[in-house]
Amino acid sequence: MHALWIRALAGVIAIGGLYVATTQQANQPLTVEKLADDLHVIVGSGGNVAVLTTDEGSILVDDKFDRNVPEILEKVKSISNKPVRYIMNTHHHGDHTGGNTTLIKSAEIVAHDNVFANMTKGNQPGAPRITFSDMASMRVGGKELRAHYFGRGHTNGDAVVLFPAHRVLHTGDLFVAGTPFIDYAGGGSAIEWTSTLERALALNFDKVIPGHGPIMTKQDLRNWVETFKKVRMKVSELKKGGKPAEEVAKMLNIEEFGWKPSALWTKGVPGLIAEVR
Ligand SMILES: [Zn+2]
Repeated sequence: MHALWIRALAGVIAIGGLYVATTQQANQPLTVEKLADDLHVIVGSGGNVAVLTTDEGSILVDDKFDRNVPEILEKVKSISNKPVRYIMNTHHHGDHTGGNTTLIKSAEIVAHDNVFANMTKGNQPGAPRITFSDMASMRVGGKELRAHYFGRGHTNGDAVVLFPAHRVLHTGDLFVAGTPFIDYAGGGSAIEWTSTLERALALNFDKVIPGHGPIMTKQDLRNWVETFKKVRMKVSELKKGGKPAEEVAKMLNIEEFGWKPSALWTKGVPGLIAEVR
């Protein structure tokens, strides 16, 4: 009972941390980037939202914070006059699922089993009514998207979402422009993260919508995986000889690998040092 409570609390703190990390961009207006006539990305405040429009309604991948919903809907309306029918969540964090609170009243929300588990544990509103374990396909208005779960990484419930016709992959926070956040309280794993992404790299796509940051390429994702491995190898090296974790943390300089330290990165460091052998 006690252990469960602590886990739930840790989940809330993780979400709180994310909130702090993303509030700097909270008031900037959202903008729309066009990848194709029927595929757009809404950027600014919270995670990147992909919008696939069809004659039978739109599908969103992620929905930022609840306060962003009016603006998200306004942006969708500027692309299509059809309603939002489905939302695929890439993972449970509040900057990707916050809009569920409002949107679940009019749209169906789908996510990995562990997104439901994590949201329930963290008392987050708008948990998905439909969940999947390995893979889910959505077919609406003659268009398709596929969500794949390839293993742990940023959390224990990250899905990557493929738009096969567009050769575009939405990675959620399994890939971001910059430094990752290993959310150990949310079931994340630095060791599994790169093999999870390597399985994603086997899919057919050219462009990547990261969880945060500008549109990138498959090669950018490959490079990021290699950087992640180098950082992990460095931790392993620093741990040799049984140095205490605090000392390893002090000696680890991720700027060496082109990653800027962030509050969220730092939060994951003790878990990273404990996990890497
Ligand atoms: Zn996240």
